[in-house]
Amino acid sequence: MSKADGCLGCGKAFPKNRQLASIPDARLIAFDPDTARVWRICHRCNAWNLLGTESAAAALPELMTRYDAEIAGGSLAGMNMVVLSDGLALLRAGTSPSRQAGELYASELHAGLGVWQWPGWRAGLAGLGYVAGGGILLELLKQIDAVQSLFASHAPIAFFGGIFCGWGFFGWRVLPQRDARAIRLAWVIMLPTLVWTILSGEPQSLAEATSLALGICLGAWIGWKVARPSGIRWEDGTDRISVQDGLWGDRAGWAATSAALFILQPDDSDRMKPADRDAGWAAWRAHGSLRSMLRDFESRRDATGLLNFRELALGERISLLLAVGARLAEPPEEILAGLPDAQSVAQIAESLD
Ligand SMILES: [Zn+2]
Repeated sequence: MSKADGCLGCGKAFPKNRQLASIPDARLIAFDPDTARVWRICHRCNAWNLLGTESAAAALPELMTRYDAEIAGGSLAGMNMVVLSDGLALLRAGTSPSRQAGELYASELHAGLGVWQWPGWRAGLAGLGYVAGGGILLELLKQIDAVQSLFASHAPIAFFGGIFCGWGFFGWRVLPQRDARAIRLAWVIMLPTLVWTILSGEPQSLAEATSLALGICLGAWIGWKVARPSGIRWEDGTDRISVQDGLWGDRAGWAATSAALFILQPDDSDRMKPADRDAGWAAWRAHGSLRSMLRDFESRRDATGLLNFRELALGERISLLLAVGARLAEPPEEILAGLPDAQSVAQIAESLD
């Protein structure tokens, strides 16, 4: 698409969504199959940008297919907004938002939350296979002269060791948080070992020194990003959140809500127990809406207004996850506010055709 193809409201280009072939840019796309209209909604100013009739006709089949596939599970029927990924949401205009759909979505999210289990000795044995395979592959690679000379120098060790140390120094607070202190502090042992490995070897080359410096810079950059507190801010009494996150980037407006859904998902390092899941579900049932739940969290924000996700108990995080998921079933007010104008603009455009 050409550079001139920006938002009519603010002139900014639409971000790529990496999901749709027919509309490769914009993070929120609204469509109305009954009137064959398609809009790209600006992530900055919420303006509805009507697509030309030809482009709309070309895009509708793909939009309908993706939308239908997402709600095909049955429980999501009636939802008029679906989030396909952190980078893309589809809004079916012309249907009314269903509160029940949000609640069903929350229950589906809850049902899909896996409880953490110790991987067990079978998983360990499977892992051993990968290590063995990796070792054989490495030996085969060493038969190639260029690779062998690379291994003869300490440059790769310096580079990857540098990444590990730089990352560990800045990011250690957020490495597996609960009880893996040994992992968090591994860089403390690693750094002297690395320096010793390099100093005790052959005369150091420029390549090794450069690799070490590059590795430490890269590691420090990643660690710095990861260590930045991730959480949300909002104005009292509203559910319009903005997201701060080092890894996923900061988001404001409706895109923040879909980003929060991905950031709040627990992973294996959280070691979720059934009690955490139940606590999250109970808190969500007690509130029934994101707005109501956020009121409870108002006093937990820091001086900058940030509710830091890392300060929350796992059950609390899950309750927020469910509330955010339910909220996503309904389009944000600031987006819906633009619909009447968007429809009259479309009518005028169609009468000119
Ligand atoms: Zn705009």
